[in-house]
Amino acid sequence: MANFETVEVSTDLLIVGGGFTACGAATEAAYWAKKNGLKVTVVDKAALDRSGAIAMGLSAINQYVGLREGDNTCEEYVNYVRQDLMGISREDLVYNIARHVDSSVHLFEKWGLKIWLDEDGKYVHEGRWQLMINGESYKILIAEAAKNAINDAGGEIIERVFICEPLMDGNKCVGAIGFSTREEKIYVFKAKATITAMGGAVHVFRPRSAGEGFGRSWYPPFNTGSSAFFTIKAGAEMTCQEVRFIPVRFKDAYGPVGAWFLLFKSRAISATGGEYMAVRKDELQNWAPYGLVKPIPANLRNYLGMLDVEAGLGPLYMETDEAIAKIADEFKDDPKAFKKKMKELDSEAWEDFLDMTISQAHLWAALNVKPDEKHSEIAACEPYFIGSHSGASGAWVSGPEDLDTPYKWGYANMTTVDGLFAAGDASGASSHKFSSGSHAEGRIAGMAAIKYVVDNNNEPNVDAAQVEALSKKITAPIKLYDAHCNETTQPEVNPNYIKPDQFMHRLQKIMDEYAGGVSSAFKTSKSLLERAMELFVYLKEDSAKIGAANLHELMRGWENMHRMYQGEAHVRTMLFRDETRWPGYYYRADTPTMDNDNWLCFANCRMDPATEEWEMMKRDIWTLPE
Ligand SMILES: Cc1cc2nc3c(=O)[nH]c(=O)nc-3n(C[C@H](O)[C@H](O)[C@H](O)COP(=O)(O)OP(=O)(O)OC[C@H]3O[C@@H](n4cnc5c(N)ncnc54)[C@H](O)[C@@H]3O)c2cc1C
Repeated sequence: MANFETVEVSTDLLIVGGGFTACGAATEAAYWAKKNGLKVTVVDKAALDRSGAIAMGLSAINQYVGLREGDNTCEEYVNYVRQDLMGISREDLVYNIARHVDSSVHLFEKWGLKIWLDEDGKYVHEGRWQLMINGESYKILIAEAAKNAINDAGGEIIERVFICEPLMDGNKCVGAIGFSTREEKIYVFKAKATITAMGGAVHVFRPRSAGEGFGRSWYPPFNTGSSAFFTIKAGAEMTCQEVRFIPVRFKDAYGPVGAWFLLFKSRAISATGGEYMAVRKDELQNWAPYGLVKPIPANLRNYLGMLDVEAGLGPLYMETDEAIAKIADEFKDDPKAFKKKMKELDSEAWEDFLDMTISQAHLWAALNVKPDEKHSEIAACEPYFIGSHSGASGAWVSGPEDLDTPYKWGYANMTTVDGLFAAGDASGASSHKFSSGSHAEGRIAGMAAIKYVVDNNNEPNVDAAQVEALSKKITAPIKLYDAHCNETTQPEVNPNYIKPDQFMHRLQKIMDEYAGGVSSAFKTSKSLLERAMELFVYLKEDSAKIGAANLHELMRGWENMHRMYQGEAHVRTMLFRDETRWPGYYYRADTPTMDNDNWLCFANCRMDPATEEWEMMKRDIWTLPE
């Protein structure tokens, strides 16, 4: 029988999550904490060195404005994000990140990251905003800097603790509670301020990968909606919960396409329809003004390819052979230079995968793919929640103090809950921050949270009864399983509990079939979403009956609890937004056009933590003055 002991950790600032945002927050907060004699504690469900979306490494830094070089302005970055998100973005947040992101990149370089340089010593760009890197060890370097900063400031890093819920004192967050994934221990963190940075969510929707491939997805399987759950459960206002991200990637191993499109200038075609971006250009008129301005928003690029697939013109292909041939053509009159260039392109193509999606290199090798000889299949992935990339879902946070906006209630990146900050994937409506921008936003939140603690240096009032009740709730799946697992010959089949993976499949089936997943061709409607909500009632009821055989399954159970709330917020907000704004992410078949008169606004929501009743609201868009 499980016997959990309770470990109590008191701190001034608690950072939950250990990814890029948390590392940025830790690095910056530690500096200010040391000056003010405060303690910073970081808690991660995994190990900082290789946790989060960048665990495997990356081949490009996707946000670099180039202020020092005079390449771009912050306003231009804001325009780019507004355009890509079809008008829906918190321009104050995007601007704030843009003006700080370059300094994060310069720090990365100082800490040892190899950013590609050209013969003149300038950064090699993949595209206008992207820099090429040798990024296999990207996460290790950034984590090392965070660890050094925390150690130097006398803080604490606790790994392999899964955070389940926030601890609340009315509308103030006073810490968090979770459990060790390795030992029978409940962790109670008491904090004067908390930053949530637990990434986005995958496997809310049924993935394309099935059977032995299950678990393979574009978004890393270990981020499961904990940021969204944490802020929703704290009673924070959430934004852009309807905005999912569907990347188009190399099919089945989800390998990156950025280098192919941006660096190698490759074309994408359908098997019999030609280059869908050219053939279906007229469709873009329907999504004006965004469809008519370059770069065409990612969702619209998806959409044109999806139209080809729907018309039976698939599969879609990346023309790798054609792109390589075009680049090498310059050297055709010099056989030696030609051979050298081909070798260079070949190694760049493979390194792109080896840096960040090794399984794509495996798949190419397994299928005898030579990118210079034959094109490769691409496809739209299943939907994900990633507010830092081309999605936007997250908490509604206070904007920077120096901009005159309607979005300020004190401290930068504080949610509508007192003392609770959010950044990176956890903060919403500020897409396209990627790795570097998430780090920069983490730094912004880290500094603001320390300022909050300095101004509000009161001991957190943690209610013992709340801790007791949550401890019981956290371990309930283990107790339920223990009590009943011997009552059936197959412990997986038992009327008293549902196993975490069975629960997950049920959630995924609802999301896939009713909320616009892969099998419904990313289409949904009011009636389908209402049916999803009916099924969610039963799903939620059964979430109290998740049974876990061990600590690992306990984590799986809690991951699915978190996914379920992310799913519910998504369904509710798609239902609320009576239009189709991002047709290549989801398509409301009953309201198939964009309605700028009524919906050029944020669709926000808030769940009352006591009653679990949801309130939906619109919020105005503030546009950065030219
Ligand atoms: C496939 C892919 C490719 C990408 N490519 C690029 C690229 O080429 N260039 C680029 O600049 N950016 C890229 N990005 C974006 C970049 O990875 C993210 O912007 C960045 O990782 C966001 O940082 P984060 O800290 O918010 O989330 P993450 O870095 O994902 O960190 C989340 C952290 O939360 C922890 N966590 C999760 N749940 C819990 C819990 N319950 N309790 C405790 N801890 C928890 C995790 O262990 C992890 O430490 C890519 C992202 C993906 C998914």
